[in-house]
Amino acid sequence: MRFVAIIQARTGSTRLPNKVLKKIREKTVIEIITERLAFSKLLDGIVVATTDNPLDDGLCDLLSSKSIPFFRGSEKDVLERYYQAALEFNAEVIIRITGDCPLIDSEVVDSVIRKFIDEKVDYCSNINPPTFPDGLDTEVISFKLLEKINSLVTDDYDREHVTTYIRNSKRFSTSVITNNIDLSNLRWTLDEVDDFKVIERIYSKFPNSYFFGWKDVLSLYETNKEIFLANQYIVNNSGARMGTGQKLYSRAKKIIPGGSMLLSKRPEMFLPDNWPAYFKKAKGCEVWDLDDKKYYDTSIMGVGTNILGYANDEVNEAVTKALRDGVSSTFNCPDEVFLAEKLIDMHPWADMARFARSGGEINSVAVRIARAHTKKDKIAICGYHGWHDWYLSTNINNKSGLNKHLLPGLEPLGVPKSLEGSVIPFEYNKFEQLEEIIKNNKNKIAAIKMEVVRNFEPQNGFLEAVREIATENNIILIFDECTSGFRETFGGIHKKYKVYPDMAIFGKALGNGFAISACIGKRDVMESTQKTFISSTFWTEKVGPAAALKTLEIMERMKSWEIITNKGKFIASEWSRIAQENNLDINLSGIPSLKSFSISLDNWLAYKTFITQEMLKEGFLASNLLYSSVSHEDIIIKNYIKKLNQIFNQIRTINDKGDIMNFLDGGVCHGGFQRLN
Ligand code: PMP
Repeated sequence: MRFVAIIQARTGSTRLPNKVLKKIREKTVIEIITERLAFSKLLDGIVVATTDNPLDDGLCDLLSSKSIPFFRGSEKDVLERYYQAALEFNAEVIIRITGDCPLIDSEVVDSVIRKFIDEKVDYCSNINPPTFPDGLDTEVISFKLLEKINSLVTDDYDREHVTTYIRNSKRFSTSVITNNIDLSNLRWTLDEVDDFKVIERIYSKFPNSYFFGWKDVLSLYETNKEIFLANQYIVNNSGARMGTGQKLYSRAKKIIPGGSMLLSKRPEMFLPDNWPAYFKKAKGCEVWDLDDKKYYDTSIMGVGTNILGYANDEVNEAVTKALRDGVSSTFNCPDEVFLAEKLIDMHPWADMARFARSGGEINSVAVRIARAHTKKDKIAICGYHGWHDWYLSTNINNKSGLNKHLLPGLEPLGVPKSLEGSVIPFEYNKFEQLEEIIKNNKNKIAAIKMEVVRNFEPQNGFLEAVREIATENNIILIFDECTSGFRETFGGIHKKYKVYPDMAIFGKALGNGFAISACIGKRDVMESTQKTFISSTFWTEKVGPAAALKTLEIMERMKSWEIITNKGKFIASEWSRIAQENNLDINLSGIPSLKSFSISLDNWLAYKTFITQEMLKEGFLASNLLYSSVSHEDIIIKNYIKKLNQIFNQIRTINDKGDIMNFLDGGVCHGGFQRLN
């Protein structure tokens, strides 16, 4: 019989690109694997099976230059690749080795082959169950069986993982080599950067050789455990179960503190171990992950940025035109003037506008203007206003100062302690707190900065009272409409309550996904911009204003705020209905198009995670909140509610008889701000 080792290897691996081309001293990982295998006494051939993706051209050049035989085939259908490689190299028995095993040991390989021969089976391995350290994986398969499964197996996962069908179906004659002690918790494989650190350190202990055995590595482990620490946290074989997005996120967390630039988009906020994390494409309310799986976004719709849906054709066209014509020059873009005129026209109390590109930034602009205008320092706040020093300084003397304002647990580290006391929080609808602040800080409050409405409606003339006390005390009233803007009126939600500020701030939905934020205000206040210095290069680019102008035009034409409010009202009433049908006590909050719910259950966060987990399986991005968009068609909402109803039903049963923790496939989602390690 002709025994051929076929090593599957590609350079495009998500968790560690180019891993087989990484060098340990002067040899690449793929050379090391082939040379280690060459010590086998039973192998008749060694072939690398790589992909026909042009990304692997470099790998093929290297293999050619080293006279290592190789085969190129399908990237995803690895089973087909093995079958074709086996055919081309006349393999009667295939020894499957993967490119993540730079410590593969030819003696282990030979022992698996010997058992395959002795027991006359069609499949023999040392991984079913695994008892050897991860990284010595060897599978021996008869060509006959490979041919059979290649024609039989239809599932993508089984085709990608080649032998899972053999192991799981239990239909074939198989055997296994086991080690006398279970060492499968040792991780000597190469999937991630930290694995490479461990492998490099192991090799550094054998400076004169590439060809030490696995027992030598084990002895090293007994005496030098610290060498093996760097990758211990990685779960063995987790890669097979992980989607491409999760793999990429594990890479991201090592090089991007926090993993993502926005807390609300961290996978931990939804489904810590199973959230697809990245998108390849988004259109309407549909989002495709990196594995081309499609989901309906019935969650935060880009954190409220996309009222008109993702990749809106008209907005994209306006932006494309801007790109074609150039988005920056030494001259300014006229669009910013038109946008200022439009926003002022929509808000007749305002006379002037300034632009930035993010919500936190424009909040800082407004605070600076208010302080410059009043020549006072302190700010009274109610709500979330971004990440900047001025806002976070609220928490300097009281770490829980911001707990009632969207994000609990924010650390003011890095914010100068001298800002202590400069920002004072008050709770929504608690006018007496604001009165107290103003009384205790006579003539020191420059601005009251607040979200007009977030979770609850204003009560007992709250907004009117705030307006009055601001006017009486010569305090600038700033409404932060980053999130509430355009969701219930054409412009600020303050138009609905007929209470008018001195300045208002917009962001999020203004550009329907393109970066643009705005501060509008009364002339005398806004002119104080010139008494200080507020200026930034990219506030002049054209994409943001071009996108905003088109977005406003479409919104006005469609009356999108009415559409999303109606959708939101319907969704909220359906949440109440299905909760009642399943005997669950539900609490709703937020304006209709930014609605959220919670259910009165112990360990609610775990249940919330369960909802996300189960809805994801059904093709919905969902949590306990829904930011409605015009792209949420009725049929999508209907199906969403239908699935959610089934999950509410499961929740009822689990709460009655089970432990929710047993129903989670991974960790519980994060609540407020949590540091990621
Ligand atoms: N203000 C409000 C009311 C917000 O909701 C947000 C974002 N959640 C911000 C400011 C900050 O905006 P950005 O994340 O764009 O900096």
